Amino acid sequence: MSIKIEIFLAYKDNFGYLLHDEESGASALIDAGDEKAILAALKRTGWELTDIFITHHHLDHTDAIASLKKKFNVKVTSSLAEGDKIPLSDRKVSAGEKINFAGHEFYVINLRGHTNGHIGYYNEKEGLLFTGDALFSLGCGRMFEGTAEIMWRDLAALRELPDNILVYCGHEYSLANAQFALSVDPHNEKLKKREQQIRNQLAAGKFTIPTNLGEEKALNPFLRADDPIIKANMGMENASPTKVFAALRKAKDNF
Ligand code: ZN
Ligand code: FE
Repeated sequence: MSIKIEIFLAYKDNFGYLLHDEESGASALIDAGDEKAILAALKRTGWELTDIFITHHHLDHTDAIASLKKKFNVKVTSSLAEGDKIPLSDRKVSAGEKINFAGHEFYVINLRGHTNGHIGYYNEKEGLLFTGDALFSLGCGRMFEGTAEIMWRDLAALRELPDNILVYCGHEYSLANAQFALSVDPHNEKLKKREQQIRNQLAAGKFTIPTNLGEEKALNPFLRADDPIIKANMGMENASPTKVFAALRKAKDNF
């Protein structure tokens, strides 16, 4: 049976994800920041927390680990490369590893740059991708720790995955990201449509995620640093994708 996913807002603009396997009763959180929001989601669903999968060490993704471990019999999985920046981990994983959640397989993938050991979780069978603060809808995370070379390499590698995948990211930044995307791709009709759709979703009190990976490949400028249209609009026709990516990231920081 397929995984059920409960999406909830945490803090101001973090997304919380609670995954549930009906048959076993197992439930997993993707990231664990806002304890109040997490406990409310558990209460609402009646699901019992058994696992936590962490994408990266920032506090808005890890702050609730200690108290949740006290309350529940929960196993914490996090990135080996983030070391003891993520406390109380029961299992440290690296890219390429396949991990099991109640019979559902998730590949660990590298999504570095926002932090040096940032990872994502990909379920091939059900087409689910959890990207933390590495890839957002129409955007990407700030490059706090990594280099443009590494961040671009890991993001570009996502384009190898099938289009028909649902992307669940760490924050509700879609509108600001759409506006930036339009600034570097102003004549893209599909992008204009997506921006309007985001406005409508937000006005209706809906989440703008999950997004579709195929749509991200086509519209997200941070997956298109080698796209001639983006290069031309940045005035960087002859620059390497890494240089274009770095310029895009810098432009977004100052947008
Ligand atoms: Zn972060
Ligand atoms: Fe975050």
